[in-house]
Amino acid sequence: MELTSKIYVAGHRGLVGSAIVRKLKEQGYNNIVVRTSKELDLRDKLQVDAFFEEQQPEFVFLAAAKVGGIVANNTYPADFIRDNLMIQTNVIDAAYRKGVKKLLFLGSTCIYPKFARQPMNEAALLTGELEPTNEPYAIAKIAGIKMCESYNRQYGTNYICAMPTNLYGPNDNFDLETSHVLPALIRKFHEAKLRNELYVEVWGTGAPKREFLYSDDLADAVIYLMNHYHGNQFVNVGVGKDISIKELAEKIQKVVGFEGEIKFNPSKPDGTPRKLVDVTKLNKLGWYATTSLEDGIERTYKWFLENGLETV
Ligand code: GDP
Repeated sequence: MELTSKIYVAGHRGLVGSAIVRKLKEQGYNNIVVRTSKELDLRDKLQVDAFFEEQQPEFVFLAAAKVGGIVANNTYPADFIRDNLMIQTNVIDAAYRKGVKKLLFLGSTCIYPKFARQPMNEAALLTGELEPTNEPYAIAKIAGIKMCESYNRQYGTNYICAMPTNLYGPNDNFDLETSHVLPALIRKFHEAKLRNELYVEVWGTGAPKREFLYSDDLADAVIYLMNHYHGNQFVNVGVGKDISIKELAEKIQKVVGFEGEIKFNPSKPDGTPRKLVDVTKLNKLGWYATTSLEDGIERTYKWFLENGLETV
């Protein structure tokens, strides 16, 4: 990409898309086009075609998707598979028809089989059954990967795919019912501190291990891939190490400055014992995550203090 290239970031209001726009601007890219979902409904082929015809973007980051936690995925499976298939099909196909130079499609590590060996290597795709609770979402994402691969094969396009691990950062979802663990704990510790409570309840046993990638690092990685990677196989994006929920809770407690105790509630589900991606391929391409978990939590907490409560 040149600094003046026309770049369309689809999904610029989300955790991922907003980080990509911030990072592009920081790196000096000055011709970025975005549309809210009100301005452009990506599920509507006619609107998408008209937008590409009018704007003629040269590069596309496809970070628009219908996302949600386990409850949302379980309650609205039809919406998850339909909206995601429609969004990605419309954007990928319009990109092809309008001659976009390069497109990057963002997926998720839930594309991997439920019992994939840890750390999860790219080669594990389609080697086993998926986790049933988010299968419709995962199938849509797998279809997106296969669509990019197929367009490359048949039409000679240059579409690449990145599969990020669990992300966190500004613009995350801090709703305690539907959020992931990291933003949930930031909010729980913050509220417990304000109310001088004696303890914070952390779900499960604290033993499961998870990997956390700061959204700005993901943005840096995908811009790097856009500029340096041309392969047909998708690439995992992660930090390559994980920590237990107990250690995570202790780190967040420290950043927030909560003086009380942590109480685990084993009647809540632990979920998968471990979820870690193999980042060998990404590292070999020359990219490594740089934000430490402590720094990332501090920056996310700062953002939450300034903006977070308005979003919940
Ligand atoms: P997962 O990675 O798909 O399992 O999704 P989550 O981020 O929601 O949960 C990760 C782990 O954190 C699970 O073991 C949860 O039980 C645990 N956890 C502890 N406290 C919380 C909380 O307040 N909210 C959430 N979402 N998870 C929590």
